[in-house]
Amino acid sequence: MSVNKATVAGVEVSTDHWINGKRVSSAKRFTNISPVDGSVLCEVAAGGKAEVDMAVEAARKAFPAWAALGPKGRLPILKKFAEGIRARVNELAAVETMDNGSLLVGNVMRVAPRAAQNIEFFAEWALTLEGHSIDSPEVVNHVHYDPAGVAALITPWNAPLMLTTWKVGPALAAGNTVVVKPPEWAPLTCSLMADIAHAAGVPAGVLNVVQGIGEEAGDALVNHPDVDRISFTGSTDTAKIIGQAAARSITPMSAELGGKSPFIVCADADLDAAAQTVAAQYMNAGQVCLAGTRVMVEKSIEAPFLEKVRGAAAHMVVGDPRDKDTRVGPLIHKEHFERVAGFVERAKADGAVPLWGGNRANFGELYFEPTLFANVDPKLEIAQREVFGPVLTWQSFSDDDEVIALANGTDYGLAGTLFSKNEKRAMAIADKVTAGTLWVNCFFIRDLAAPFGGARSSGIGREGGTWSFDFYSDIKNISVRKGSFA
Ligand code: NAD
Repeated sequence: MSVNKATVAGVEVSTDHWINGKRVSSAKRFTNISPVDGSVLCEVAAGGKAEVDMAVEAARKAFPAWAALGPKGRLPILKKFAEGIRARVNELAAVETMDNGSLLVGNVMRVAPRAAQNIEFFAEWALTLEGHSIDSPEVVNHVHYDPAGVAALITPWNAPLMLTTWKVGPALAAGNTVVVKPPEWAPLTCSLMADIAHAAGVPAGVLNVVQGIGEEAGDALVNHPDVDRISFTGSTDTAKIIGQAAARSITPMSAELGGKSPFIVCADADLDAAAQTVAAQYMNAGQVCLAGTRVMVEKSIEAPFLEKVRGAAAHMVVGDPRDKDTRVGPLIHKEHFERVAGFVERAKADGAVPLWGGNRANFGELYFEPTLFANVDPKLEIAQREVFGPVLTWQSFSDDDEVIALANGTDYGLAGTLFSKNEKRAMAIADKVTAGTLWVNCFFIRDLAAPFGGARSSGIGREGGTWSFDFYSDIKNISVRKGSFA
């Protein structure tokens, strides 16, 4: 039992684990530094095997009663959980901004409200899963969505509250209990989430949070023999390690991973809207998995469109993410800054030419200029690997086959964006681009009922709507011979 706390953005946050309805400390701690100004926010409990064992045991013990409530029994508790998030939107947003440097206005307007929606939406959707049956000549097949058991949920730092609730929502709604391992570079909103769930009446052991380093707490969690599902969002490299653990125990794993998504602009597009949307890829310093970082422009409009993008990009103000005019905040961490700067330096050495940006921004240690590279051979590292910073590449195309080949020319397949006013042409290109989500004349719009995930190295499986329940449930068919009951 412990009472380790920090005050961040005026909000009191526990810096310990949340296990079996209680705060639990660890002797070992890690330092949490704000990317906004480099200040030390707090020392956070660094869990390992012992804490993971406690959390999984608590989750296992809590599972039968939580599962037995059924979707209707869980609904009021989860609705209260969502209301609790809504009541604390401003606090959650402010803490998230200090913790990971994401834009405050975006966190208040979209991210924190969406976290509440993640919980409520899936709690309500779970009601629709009951009572499905398939009629056959001899039998009736009753389809049951049985809760799977204990789900291990691991998330990254770029949107911890949003991405964690995207997993917690359906996992709990489906009747599972969960152990969350938050990202060590932004662990705090997951801690607040545990308090909110507790206050809403989520029983002890149903939602557990073990803080810690990926290679320690995360590794212990994915290798725990009593875990029934592993849901991971993060980098493709980490997914390959976790996938080995999942394979050893044949534990179903879902993975939402990195991307290098194409942003295709056809000559017949609304060029002003397209240019604004290209510039928006710099938001949150480009630390957005779905960002369309490879801009592909039809040759006939290349020069005028570049000027439009230049104009729109000039409004991407680099600065303090708490300032409402800022569009590009800091990179998360010194290590990540060096990674991004390394990509940029190697791109220059490879012959790519920065049309703007390419250096540390004149604002603070972790701030990087919005950057656009031209003269980019598709085989270059800068056109192939995810940078996860405010760095775009510019390529041109002459016909649709060429742009489809260019778009599909990486190992990734997370998303894509396409601007064209010609419906037939737009849909024909969209049909051939390999991606989990393809936006046409829009960007970043997501309905929780729609499937979400990535192709190729961008992921395994789909979540959202029914797809989330397919993953978090053991689907059973009770096949009953017609007329066989007395
Ligand atoms: P990461 O893979 O380094 O870490 C993600 C999480 O995994 C963290 O909580 C970390 O502690 C944990 N982890 C690390 N090693 C582990 C191990 N061996 N065992 C278990 N857990 C371990 O990723 P990151 O740098 O935090 O996040 C950035 C990446 O996430 C980018 O590639 C980005 O595209 C991707 N991402 C994808 C989506 C999506 O929905 N597809 C959303 C956001 C971010």
